Amino acid sequence: MKHVITLIPGDGIGPEVSEAVVRIFTVAGLEIEWERHDAGVVAFEKTNETLPVALLDSIRRNKVALKGPVTTPIGQGFTSVNVGLRKALDLYSNLRPVRNLPGVQSRYTDVDLIIVRENTEDLYAGLEHVVIPGVVESIKIITERASTKIARFAFEFARNYGRKRVTAIHKANIMKLSDGLFLECSRNVAREYTDITYDERIVDAACMHLVMHPEKLDVLLLPNLYGDIVSDLCAGLVGGLGVVPGANHGKEVAVFEAVHGSAPDIALKNLANPTALLLSGLMMLDHIDERDTATRIRAALDRVLVNGTVRTGDLGGTATTTEFTEAICRELQTGSAALPDS
Ligand code: ATP
Repeated sequence: MKHVITLIPGDGIGPEVSEAVVRIFTVAGLEIEWERHDAGVVAFEKTNETLPVALLDSIRRNKVALKGPVTTPIGQGFTSVNVGLRKALDLYSNLRPVRNLPGVQSRYTDVDLIIVRENTEDLYAGLEHVVIPGVVESIKIITERASTKIARFAFEFARNYGRKRVTAIHKANIMKLSDGLFLECSRNVAREYTDITYDERIVDAACMHLVMHPEKLDVLLLPNLYGDIVSDLCAGLVGGLGVVPGANHGKEVAVFEAVHGSAPDIALKNLANPTALLLSGLMMLDHIDERDTATRIRAALDRVLVNGTVRTGDLGGTATTTEFTEAICRELQTGSAALPDS
């Protein structure tokens, strides 16, 4: 079956890792018509918009998008395209599975976490202003509606995928009203899911626990900001930002993107690891019912990683993005542990 999917290559390492995924999907035999759209600074230079209407229309029409990272310049004058996209499409849930990959060495061997991050509010509401010179106020928004929706998403996920525990992460001892409301909504939803254990951890203590005993946690339910920070921490548990995928879900639309950002330090050097976006793409294939092809690609990726000869710098190797991508393509074509000529 032919699929039409929106592709946002993004900037920084985005175009390199996006083209790697497109190449692997083509070699795997998928019939996909990609509708390519710019976003962020690249789009602004062409259309004067950072989040062009044509891009939003394309995602609304196709219901599915694969997205590379889009840089948000630090400082004033540029609101985040990533946040804007999530708001515009009401992509209220950000799902990030964090697992050890075969052949990828890390400090731990038994990490299998699911991060469920609220995606639309909290300090990401972008409500900041100068009260008087030298004093800035940044407003944290937590609503019953969004907190209940994300809690329900976490518990539904846990039930559908046989997970045993959902842990809400918060700082309600300090932010009694806002994080307090998040917890209250989580508790209310938890009562409907008696088959799943529910507990709570304060975010700082949760970070320590994650570093000491990541195997003891299961599904993590977090408001937006803690979700962002804890995601990078969790990526560090399994080999870094190059290997952790993600999916943003709304009611009808889903946008798949890696946890990492645009990594400007390694952009345009053919050094980026495309694994995180590839795994995000495989989540997308599961979502559009291309499970068999997703399984084949995953097996090819695993074989390349286990073989270990061809891996990118972040995983201790010397391969370029292209060499790593081609090694996966060769695996798909031959099914053997083919190695590059060099
Ligand atoms: P943001 O704040 O935009 O979300 P981030 O905190 O996720 O960004 P990145 O820009 O993604 O930060 O990357 C931090 C560092 O991790 C980079 O400097 C880069 O060295 C490394 N990194 C990130 N993604 C990759 C990747 N796909 N392959 C190799 N290294 C990566």
